[in-house]
Amino acid sequence: MRHFSEELRAQGRSVFYVNLTDPKNTQSLISEVERHQATYGFSDWVLTEPSEWRLKEAFEGLAVSLPVPVKIVQDDRFICSHDDFQAFLDGRKQPRMEHFYRKIRQSTGILMKGKDPVGGQWNFDRVNRKPLDQRLTPSPPIWSIDSITAGVIQLVNSRFTNHFGVLDGSSFHWPVNREQALMMLEHFITVRLPSFGDFQDAMLIGKDTLFHSLISTSLNMGLLTPLEVCKAAESAFYQGHVPINAAEGFIRQIIGWREYVRGLYWTYMPDYQSLNSLNATLPLPHFFWNESKTDMLCVSEAIRNTRENAYAHHIQRLMVTGNFALIAGCSVAEVCEWYLSVYADAFEWVELPNTLGMALFADNGVVASKPYCASGKYIDRMSDYCKSCRYNVKETETENACPFNYLYWDFLIKHQERFRSNPRMAMILKNLDRFEDAKLEAIRLRARKFRESIEPSGFDGTASLKEQEP
Ligand SMILES: Cc1cc2nc3c(=O)[nH]c(=O)nc-3n(C[C@H](O)[C@H](O)[C@H](O)COP(=O)(O)OP(=O)(O)OC[C@H]3O[C@@H](n4cnc5c(N)ncnc54)[C@H](O)[C@@H]3O)c2cc1C
Ligand code: SF4
Repeated sequence: MRHFSEELRAQGRSVFYVNLTDPKNTQSLISEVERHQATYGFSDWVLTEPSEWRLKEAFEGLAVSLPVPVKIVQDDRFICSHDDFQAFLDGRKQPRMEHFYRKIRQSTGILMKGKDPVGGQWNFDRVNRKPLDQRLTPSPPIWSIDSITAGVIQLVNSRFTNHFGVLDGSSFHWPVNREQALMMLEHFITVRLPSFGDFQDAMLIGKDTLFHSLISTSLNMGLLTPLEVCKAAESAFYQGHVPINAAEGFIRQIIGWREYVRGLYWTYMPDYQSLNSLNATLPLPHFFWNESKTDMLCVSEAIRNTRENAYAHHIQRLMVTGNFALIAGCSVAEVCEWYLSVYADAFEWVELPNTLGMALFADNGVVASKPYCASGKYIDRMSDYCKSCRYNVKETETENACPFNYLYWDFLIKHQERFRSNPRMAMILKNLDRFEDAKLEAIRLRARKFRESIEPSGFDGTASLKEQEP
């Protein structure tokens, strides 16, 4: 915001930017609007629709409380309007992302040849998701920080002393203006996109970003638009620089998942945030705030990445920390609060459907057609973690067995009746049905003991977001 206000001023516009430390700051967006109206007597207000339910209600309240006209305009950080999303949902019993994605491909013409998808198919995931066996991965671009960013880092470190992350000038690498956002995009398209499809689910010790784009903060803040990003990937494909599985896989994340979860958020809020269909109540483990407190290497790596970079890539979020929270049965509200607190790209419209829906299945299948639950076997296939972990990924019931293994089976034992009617769970439950009673009992016992051994967080994560006395 500080860089943007400077850019606008340089263009000759009048900007009222209220600093956090301004003594006149009433510390609320709504009361600041009211204060400015009372001071300057503006003739009308034009607001961009907010991206959070709580603010939508507050904005609507402003339209009543301000003595002048208030116009709320559509947010151009998205391709699909609320009306178009509702039109997509109309008459569909079980809407799925894939159907939505095809509609957006058709309406935008991205990777389309007339009415047909370029390459003859809509989705190339079948050839994606290879494990990564070499350690040569590209580093993201780095630029030096300017005095505005340095000032904000200092402000955060002095006023929010209890924050969870690592924050110093040398470790901060997120784009803060359009120029840097474009550099990040350009670097991704030329260096990392060619391998994005193949290795989008891979994980390696100490490799925090792999072939991912690192553009979610820029998209969510409006430094890049979804269409320009997709067009850049499409044109790299047409120029023969990237294969179709990479271009299509990447574009699907943006015009598919990103737009789809946003549509679901606005359709199902405000009730959505209190859903807990699997009755998960285990307090969030303390190690979510301190990776040194767990011996599970996959989990500690994901949390280290989160703490050091305010980032973890999708598979770390979904199949490591998210999967753990799902199969251990962690409290949905506490897990959602954690994800919203720790990531630089976290906004409720995208965090909530991804965490509560995709990772925790607490919405009973609104976002995902089946729970994303997995044993250690999946993590072992997609990463190099298990070779260096103190737990044994090949074992399920022994003292040293990988916790993901017994928690996974315990999760299925617990919820098997609910999942029997889901055809996508049939194979997994068939395997469970083959287990003898003694094995089932041993799994339940291990899982119970593990849960009992967990130290609850006892730490209010959101305290880190609240201001402390300097
Ligand atoms: C539990 C959980 C919580 C998440 N919370 C957030 C969040 O708060 N904010 C956020 O922007 N993303 C969130 N995601 C989605 C995704 O993990 C991040 O967008 C991605 O990791 C950001 O890194 P990247 O830019 O390198 O993405 P890439 O892997 O390079 O993907 C490209 C872009 O596609 C979009 N995208 C990919 N997957 C998703 C998705 N599932 N939903 C929406 N957009 C997607 C993002 O804009 C991303 O920048 C979450 C995923 C999970 C499983
Ligand atoms: S053995 Fe289990 S806990 Fe350890 S890294 Fe592998 S999956 Fe994670």
